[in-house]
Amino acid sequence: MSATDNPDATPATPVVTRFAPSPTGFLHIGGARTALFNLLFARHHGGTFRLRIEDTDRARSSQPAIDAILDGMRWLGLDWDGEEVYQFARADRHAAVAQEMVAAGHAYRCYLTPEELDAMRAEAQAAKKPLRIRSPWRERTDWPADKPYVIRLRAPTEGATTIDDRVQGEVTVQNAELDDLVLLRADGTPTYMLAVVVDDHDMGVTHVIRGDDHLNNAFRQLPIYRAMGWAEPVYAHIPLIHGADGAKLSKRHGAVGIEAYRDEMGILPEALDNYLLRLGWGHGDDEIISRPDAIRWFDLAGVGKSPSRFDLKKLENLNGHYIRATDDARLADLVAAKLSLDHDDTRRSTLLAAMPALKPRAANVNELADGTAFLFATRPLGIDEAARPLLDGDAPALLTHLHSALDAVHNWDTESTEAAVRQVAETAGVKLGQVAQPLRVALTGRKTSPGIFDVLVLLGREESLARIADQMTPHGA
Ligand code: GLU
Repeated sequence: MSATDNPDATPATPVVTRFAPSPTGFLHIGGARTALFNLLFARHHGGTFRLRIEDTDRARSSQPAIDAILDGMRWLGLDWDGEEVYQFARADRHAAVAQEMVAAGHAYRCYLTPEELDAMRAEAQAAKKPLRIRSPWRERTDWPADKPYVIRLRAPTEGATTIDDRVQGEVTVQNAELDDLVLLRADGTPTYMLAVVVDDHDMGVTHVIRGDDHLNNAFRQLPIYRAMGWAEPVYAHIPLIHGADGAKLSKRHGAVGIEAYRDEMGILPEALDNYLLRLGWGHGDDEIISRPDAIRWFDLAGVGKSPSRFDLKKLENLNGHYIRATDDARLADLVAAKLSLDHDDTRRSTLLAAMPALKPRAANVNELADGTAFLFATRPLGIDEAARPLLDGDAPALLTHLHSALDAVHNWDTESTEAAVRQVAETAGVKLGQVAQPLRVALTGRKTSPGIFDVLVLLGREESLARIADQMTPHGA
């Protein structure tokens, strides 16, 4: 196969991709996935991945949204090359291009008044036709002085435009369907359509990889490239993310900001990256894909055409995998931060020691943090409502036996404590679980915890014996 036959061969021009979020809200998973695909495609081809903040809509853009986007991208390791570009700062350049297009005859000054536009709208509505503005000013040059005007694209009216989209395939739109869109508003500000094209051109963007809600825009953006004689980018419009029920992703499905996955759900960034990568792109049956492998394997041919479904359970499963694969020191740091124990070295060491026992059962950092509660609880322990019954009946007597058996243990490690606990069960003629359960409740206040012998060792001899002693008197006595 020659390089031209293979759609994923490295193109002759160095690849430049970009992520171009509008800072009107948080960075959501759809945006993060778009950014990830752009990053991976660029890295795969040894190219460049840029970030452009599309802050031209002044009323809806905000600094907190910009901060959330930058922060979310850094957290996910979506490291862009060079400085981020702010679109609003480039408004003069956008306006200059619009004027250049007028001078070259590819755009024109349109003096339609709001009343005339309203009349056109009403006419289209009455005829039940979509509004397609063909301004009489397209052919006129008798420009009135001192009247406000917009600059409109002189869009092609005949023929058709075909885009060979790398994900959607060939898509054709009749040019008669497209109108003369506004490039520059009467106040001299550029429209999104103009700004995007000028910026992509000036940033050298070769591949526009974005959500398929922008596919229609591509047909309105291409004529601008053609009018300016600029190299057209390759387009790849990726399907949107839907909820598990197939409906468009909404808050109800977990369409929250990226920071909620980190802060509220305790997801690790590499788990979210891996999940987002698999959401809409595949490499055989591989589920766990490292960043280096993702860079090696990523291609546009592997991007599916139909919307992907967001599945929180799958994300949590992946997260559990990454938690188990993460080293204890990093996990201890994450838990310490969550519990605001960052500056407490003693407790941090305790957390570190507890990680091997805790991480096999945690699906997220919250569960990990929650699982450490018993380590720092103070006596007498609060006992979970559901665990209380386990301290009734024979429990006080068994705990009394356990206390004396454990009191006699010299080497306080998992083997010796286990031997002592087993001995108590045997003597009492009960199963190990019948002894372990009240012991667990006495030590942790809960029905579930890491392995009971790990708990004994983590708490230490003195604290363990004291917690057991606290429960040796029957309840209500
Ligand atoms: N700023 C647009 C958005 O956030 C994206 C524009 C583009 O990728 O061309 O939806």
